[in-house]
Amino acid sequence: MNILQKSRVVLFGPPGSGKGTQGKELSKFLAINHISSGDLFRTHLGRGTALGIKAKEYMSEGLLVPDEITVMMVLEEILSPVNHQGFIMDGFPRNLTQAESLDSNLSQRGSQIDVVVSISVPQDELIRRLSNRWTCRDCQSPSQAPTSSDTTNTCSSCGGTLYQREDDKPDAVATRIQIYQSETEPLINYYAAQGIIEKVSGVGSEVEVNKRILEALKHYGLSRSHV
Ligand code: AMP
Repeated sequence: MNILQKSRVVLFGPPGSGKGTQGKELSKFLAINHISSGDLFRTHLGRGTALGIKAKEYMSEGLLVPDEITVMMVLEEILSPVNHQGFIMDGFPRNLTQAESLDSNLSQRGSQIDVVVSISVPQDELIRRLSNRWTCRDCQSPSQAPTSSDTTNTCSSCGGTLYQREDDKPDAVATRIQIYQSETEPLINYYAAQGIIEKVSGVGSEVEVNKRILEALKHYGLSRSHV
């Protein structure tokens, strides 16, 4: 089993579960590209593209962007030649229509999702994390909300400016968690039926969660020794 055969990973979990942070770490560790649907939308938004302007209507409310827009944007990325060796996908799929589109497009190319890692975090912890999260405009890394004594408001990774995402404000957070529970969480059963789901706890430090995910990926033959 080598990296070319087993490298299509979906990171799955509620908003605030750490998918983005873990996706970036795994991408470095396993040398596979990280694709985040939320980051793709935010890049469009930052550039002021038509897709970004359309997506903003939904994103600022914490709603899902319609499937026809989302699926087209994400598939274009996943199927691009730079990702043929595999990818760590975070934020997609988020409902059954998206999951079925992903499966059918990959299978038309003789490919498939190899493993879905579901990260779980209790709801009160999610709300605490999201309300205290600021994001870098440049690299999209999360940071703690600045305190009143902070003189700088910059990202510790790249020096970019930090801001609070519209959808990390309380009303949008409540909507996002509710949509996760009603539309996204049922996909755990969809992937369990395919025998490719691994459940890990997202509580603890980034390093601890990262260790759990790497341990889970080993069951699927994915480890650093394969790159
Ligand atoms: P995220 O960064 O994953 O929390 O995504 C931020 C926002 O982008 C979400 O609240 C949605 O509005 C939108 N979005 C990201 N991924 C998807 C998706 N797969 N389907 C629909 N909307 C999405």
